[in-house]
Amino acid sequence: MSEKPWYAHYPKEIPKALSYPDQPLPLFLTKAAAEYADKTAIQFLGKELSYKELHESALKLAAYLKKLGIQKGDRVAIMLPNTPQAVISFYGVLYAGAIVVQFNPLYKEREIEYQLKDCGAKMMIVLDLLYPRVQKIIRSTGLEHIIVTAIKDYLPFPKNVIYPFIQKKQSGLVVHIENRNNNHFFTKIMEETAVNEETLQMDVENDPAVLQYTGGTTGFPKGVILTHKNLVANASMCGAWMYKYRPGEEILLGVIPFFHVYGMTTVMILGVMQGYKMVLLPKFDVKTTLKTIQKQKPTIFPGAPTIYIGLLNDPNIGKYDLSSIDACISGSAPLPVEVQQKFEQVTGGKLVEGYGLTETSPVTHANFIWGNRVKGSVGVPWPDTDAVILSMQTGKPVEKPGEKGEIAVRGPQVMKGYWNRPEETEQSFKDGWFLTGDIGYMDEEGFFYIVDRKKDMIIAGGFNIYPRDVEEILYEHDAIQEAVVVGVPDPYRGETVKAFIVLKEGHHVTEQELDDYCRKHLAAFKVPRIYEFREELPKTAVGKILRRVLIDEEKQKVEKT
Ligand code: AMP
Repeated sequence: MSEKPWYAHYPKEIPKALSYPDQPLPLFLTKAAAEYADKTAIQFLGKELSYKELHESALKLAAYLKKLGIQKGDRVAIMLPNTPQAVISFYGVLYAGAIVVQFNPLYKEREIEYQLKDCGAKMMIVLDLLYPRVQKIIRSTGLEHIIVTAIKDYLPFPKNVIYPFIQKKQSGLVVHIENRNNNHFFTKIMEETAVNEETLQMDVENDPAVLQYTGGTTGFPKGVILTHKNLVANASMCGAWMYKYRPGEEILLGVIPFFHVYGMTTVMILGVMQGYKMVLLPKFDVKTTLKTIQKQKPTIFPGAPTIYIGLLNDPNIGKYDLSSIDACISGSAPLPVEVQQKFEQVTGGKLVEGYGLTETSPVTHANFIWGNRVKGSVGVPWPDTDAVILSMQTGKPVEKPGEKGEIAVRGPQVMKGYWNRPEETEQSFKDGWFLTGDIGYMDEEGFFYIVDRKKDMIIAGGFNIYPRDVEEILYEHDAIQEAVVVGVPDPYRGETVKAFIVLKEGHHVTEQELDDYCRKHLAAFKVPRIYEFREELPKTAVGKILRRVLIDEEKQKVEKT
């Protein structure tokens, strides 16, 4: 690797190249349990779990999974919000030698079914409230067993007694889970299984640890194969970037969802690797987050722009003591400069922007926490990570700084490929470089900037939405002839979902009816917020809808206002 301009900015404490432990990912937990046995690993709404307890719980789950027939390489689905069970399940599945496949808890039946079939999971660990959705589609999938757990399972007394009543009042849902052979209960597994640590036989370089679903550059969600090495490398790079923080001493706020690659790596993996205390919140809620920061005093707070914006929009933010926060790392979407400045003012800590993708475990770039930060830039490549800008015309690296093109990266955190999709895998690499699908440029100093997204994926409020997913549902509506879904700029969610609709002749449908219809079939975050009815849609000569034209029209509208 020739000397790159960004290395001039590296503080002497951050090496350009790292050496990675040649070990399976869950062994971080084995090590943390040996070094920090009685230290708190997880703080969850008043309940604490030590590293020893977390380690033992994960081993019990692994032993139980093996008893049910789970073998090396089998996929195990996990559909849980940020809870102790989510962390136990993540490590338990890995200790069993199996592959973790995380599911967004907001998914509806159809979305769950698609992902289950695609990954071929034999088993699922699911929250009781989400169980009925899985139960409805189980017959068409390969699921053989379901392990059910409830939020209350890990709440301290008396919250564990009160919680089911609150839950019933809020959701109106009473979930009845039959005690059948293929239904298993998390609490019972923990009570009745013996702890048994076995040696894991893993090919760290090649064996998948996680299949993480994303739309990638096109089409339906695909399973990104992240190996043990990919994740060990990215978490190690993260540790090197945060060199001032001592293992065993920091408190991480876990409010970004763990089912997303960003929360998975920067909290669930980094936290355990460094023996930090992880404070978990099952969902993002402004008041609870502010109260939790004041009470639990986290020092590191990874988040997405919408989370920081949400907190800043609370008129009472000034009343909370947020001074424990030393560093926030923002990823997933562009961070507005004014949000960065304001958040730094209220906390007194640093808020730095980073960049990455599911395919890169996820982080490839970041600004320095202690060192140069360039506002509006996503920072510089991490240790062992190389990046170039490929010309949109020639596909070759651009010649001068400032020239725009597609960002391509390489490094040990880059995925092995997409699950069962050799063609898509091949298309996403060129001469060993992974093509990110993001358009950007590098300045003379080696700092990178993102200007646009080549792919069609919409990111609204930190959630990825694949237009085809929504369009497919719209196309199934009796009154709809054509539908196209795009992301339009939104000051709060970054982008929001807009649907352009052409109705069949003689048909009529209102926005409200479409909204009701979509809510029935899609997770709420995917439901279009804006509808526009048109006589026709712009198309290419071969009849392909020109999505880009519609996106540009929307952008121009925003620029004019
Ligand atoms: P995901 O696979 O869900 O992590 O989404 C990856 C995509 O999020 C990237 O390809 C970018 O389009 C976008 N993204 C991530 N970080 C940033 C950032 N700091 N600024 C702009 N876009 C970002």
